[in-house]
This record gives sequence, C-alpha cells and structure tokens, in this order.
Amino acid sequence: MFNGAELVERGEEQWDSSRAAWNLAIDQQPAMVARPGDADEVAAVVGYARESGLRVAVQAEGHSAGALAGVGADTLLLRTGRMTGAEIDADSRRARVGAATKWQDLSALASPQGLAGLSGSSAEVGIVGYTLGGGHGWLARKHGLACNSVVGAEVVTADGELVRANLEDEPDLFWALRGGGGSFGVVTALEFELYPVPDLYAGMFAWPWERTTDVLHAWREWVSALPNEMSTWARILQVPPLPDVPEPVRGRALVVVEAAYLGAEEAAGELLRPLRDLEPELDTFAVVPPAALGYLHMDPEDPVPFALSGQLLDELPAAAIDAVVEAAGPDSGSPLLSLELRLLGGALVQAPPNAGALASLDHAFLTLGVGMVMDPDMAPAINGQLDLVSNALDPWDSGVTYANFIDVPTDTRRFYPPQTFDRLQEVKARYDRDDLFRANHPIPCAAAGG
Ligand SMILES: Cc1cc2nc3c(=O)[nH]c(=O)nc-3n(C[C@H](O)[C@H](O)[C@H](O)COP(=O)(O)OP(=O)(O)OC[C@H]3O[C@@H](n4cnc5c(N)ncnc54)[C@H](O)[C@@H]3O)c2cc1C
Repeated sequence: MFNGAELVERGEEQWDSSRAAWNLAIDQQPAMVARPGDADEVAAVVGYARESGLRVAVQAEGHSAGALAGVGADTLLLRTGRMTGAEIDADSRRARVGAATKWQDLSALASPQGLAGLSGSSAEVGIVGYTLGGGHGWLARKHGLACNSVVGAEVVTADGELVRANLEDEPDLFWALRGGGGSFGVVTALEFELYPVPDLYAGMFAWPWERTTDVLHAWREWVSALPNEMSTWARILQVPPLPDVPEPVRGRALVVVEAAYLGAEEAAGELLRPLRDLEPELDTFAVVPPAALGYLHMDPEDPVPFALSGQLLDELPAAAIDAVVEAAGPDSGSPLLSLELRLLGGALVQAPPNAGALASLDHAFLTLGVGMVMDPDMAPAINGQLDLVSNALDPWDSGVTYANFIDVPTDTRRFYPPQTFDRLQEVKARYDRDDLFRANHPIPCAAAGG
C-alpha cells in the first residue's frame, strides 16, 4: 500500500494479474503496478513515480496496450480499475463516470431512460480511454465523436494537482484531452452529454462469404444516400469456432452488414429494403434499447490476443471494394477475423462549436482490420495481412489516421492537422514538461518534438 493506493511489485502474488492487458498478445513488464482508488491516491502515486524517476503509463484494462508495445522497467503502470462508477442526470442529460467505467456500466443506467452516450462497438471498452482517443460509434453520424460531447474532466496533472478542466477552467487542457489522448494527466472523472434515443431499430444481415463481392458492391451503392439517422458498417467475417460466439455465426465465414437506425421500424424497413432484397441468410433486425448497441458488433467480452489496424478513406469507388475483396475475401487466404468498413459523414464532417483537438472526422469511410494472435508465431501472418489490406486501399487513403484504430507505436502527427499537433505539443509542454505520462499515442513536448 502507498497512501491508500495498492502497489504491486514483481514477485508478488498479484503481479501477473495486475500487469495483464486486455490485449493478451501484449506482455507488460513495468517497474511496478499501482492501483489507486480515488483522485487523492492517484496524486500520491504520480508524486511517488516522479520522485522515483519513473514514468507513468495510465491504463484502465489495456484495450490499447499494443500501442504502448509493452511498458518496461522505466515505467510505473497506473491501473485505474478501482475507480469505477457512473451517475446520470436524465433531466439535464448528463453523465459522470470514473476513470475505469466501461460503456456497459453507463448504458445500464442510461438505456432504461431512453438515453445513450456515444459508445463504440463494444460495451466492454473503457469510456475514458475511448473518449480521449476520439470515440467513433453507432451514433456518430447523428451526434459526432464522443470527445466532442465531453463537458468536463477531473485530472491529476504531472505535479500531482487535481484540476477541473472545462470550457472556463483550464480550457487548453480541456481542448487537448478531447481527442488528444492520455498525454496530459490522469483523468479521474469525465462528464459528458447523453442523447435521447426514443426509437432504435438495429441488427445485422449476414450472407455466406461467397456472396462478398455482390453484397459489398450493393452496400457501397446503398450508403450513398442515407440520412444521418442511419449508421452502417459492412464487414467480412471469419468467425472462430469459440463457445462464447453466438451460435448462428460460430465458425462461419460471412459477409455482414450491420446498421442502427434512430427512428421507427417502418421507416428503417423502407431504407433497408435494397439489402433485404438480397435475401440474407440471417436477419437480426429488431426494435432494441440503446444498450443493445454495445453488442450488435459481437465484439469479444473477455480479454483476447489481437492485432488491429484501420484507415480513413476519402472515397470508396467500386475498385476499392474489389481491392477489399481481393485482400480479405474468399480466395484471399486472409487469416483476419474481420475487415470492416464504417460509413462516416453526417455530424462527423463539421467541427461542432467549441470542439476538442479531434474536431471532426471529415472522411468518407473508416476501416478496421482485426486478427486474433492466438500464439506469437501467428503475429507475422496477421500483421502481414493488415499491411496487405492497407496497401490495397492506399489509393483511397486520406493520409490521416484515427488514433483509436492504431494499436502499434506510431508517429502521432498522422492523427492531426499540423496546427492541431503544434497546439497539442504546447499544451503537453505546459502540463507535463518532463514527459512523465506515457500515453498509448504520445504527444511529445514542443521542445522535445521540435
Ligand atoms: C474490442 C474493441 C472494440 C473497439 N471499438 C471501438 C470503436 O467502436 N470506436 C472507437 O473509437 N474505438 C474502439 N476501440 C478502440 C478503443 O477505443 C481504444 O483501444 C481505447 O484506447 C481503449 O480505451 P481503454 O481505456 O479501454 O484502454 P486502455 O488501453 O486501458 O487505455 C488506452 C489509453 O488511454 C489513455 N487512458 C486511459 N485511461 C486514462 C485515464 N484515466 N487518464 C488518462 N489517460 C487514460 C492512456 O493513454 C492509455 O494508454 C475498440 C477497441 C477494442 C479492443
């Protein structure tokens, strides 16, 4: 124990469980692990690390541990797992969550009230880490990125001070946190807006993957004239035969279209008709509560070993669909579990007033390839296929990258326009000039970054 925070050191019984990342492919060997239970304990741990000459890597469960590429002996791993909890005020449509709260904890409160936060594909992912990286999810075409719905954050800075950041207090820090990642301090609480979801019709169509070419071409044409209330992601799926995978898709190779419509079933049915006319083998569409969005994508609920990579595309002509099919469809030999295409547009195009560092995602499509790395020998094949997909889509690549869909160490300049990156560096230098915090996607101090 250290000022209330649990400290775990190598050789102790809890060493392996406390350093384990959600991404089981990553072996983290930090100097020690600290598990503070509140903001005061976080401040004590930050002070201890600084005095001990250690850097601090903050992690909820380690969904993005791949980008850290294994923290080492110069780093204290600060796990936020004891700081859970969520509160909502349904009247003002506001939520407040702890550092390690997952989307499922928030939606358990919000969904029965007909409200939703801007969660992504997985109910299991941490709200804070997801939001600091931007946060693209099912309601993004209607309401934008999760980071731009944040109204306040409580943060322990590098000098151990607990500050409140919002539009009035610490406005530059507040700006940087919203899409600039975890380089600026330890977020101990986050407050953000919720959105009314009175009607929601969502589900998936699935066809055997022999139909990949015609389904993806039809989807590409279908998405060209959709209202912002309709979100849709298409994917090529090779589902492993694991017991916790839903029975209808277990062990199958499929082409899948998922969609969520903010509105009534009848209107959704009209919009979806061109896809239903393709006679999917599975049709799970139904009127659902907002909480169902955290499960629609069938993400794993328990830790798994994986590698992932995504791209932002400025267009998706028919030739790009052919490239996707060749890289990851039938006959490709691809070992990837999933290659998906997310339709962007709508509210993602324009920066909302008072936006944060990731002000918009003004591109046409977001891709995500994922492979399971069941043992280290599989890594070259998975990473090689992710590179192959990336190269195949290169002609339509925007040149910009989305931080949450990159899980290897990367030059973070690729995530932002140059002026945004410069400002992030200035904020980093102001709040953490000694580069104490080691984020999954680090922003270097202005002086260090040149
Ligand atoms: C199954 C799965 C599905 C996903 N789906 C989506 C999706 O639909 N949309 C999307 O945008 N992203 C998605 N992601 C990516 C996800 O948003 C990122 O991996 C995100 O970083 C996860 O946050 P975490 O806290 O769960 O992970 P962690 O690895 O614990 O944290 C990631 C990083 O966030 C920072 N951080 C976390 N907590 C704090 C804190 N309290 N204070 C300061 N910094 C902190 C740190 O820099 C840390 O390295 C998905 C990831 C997975 C594994």
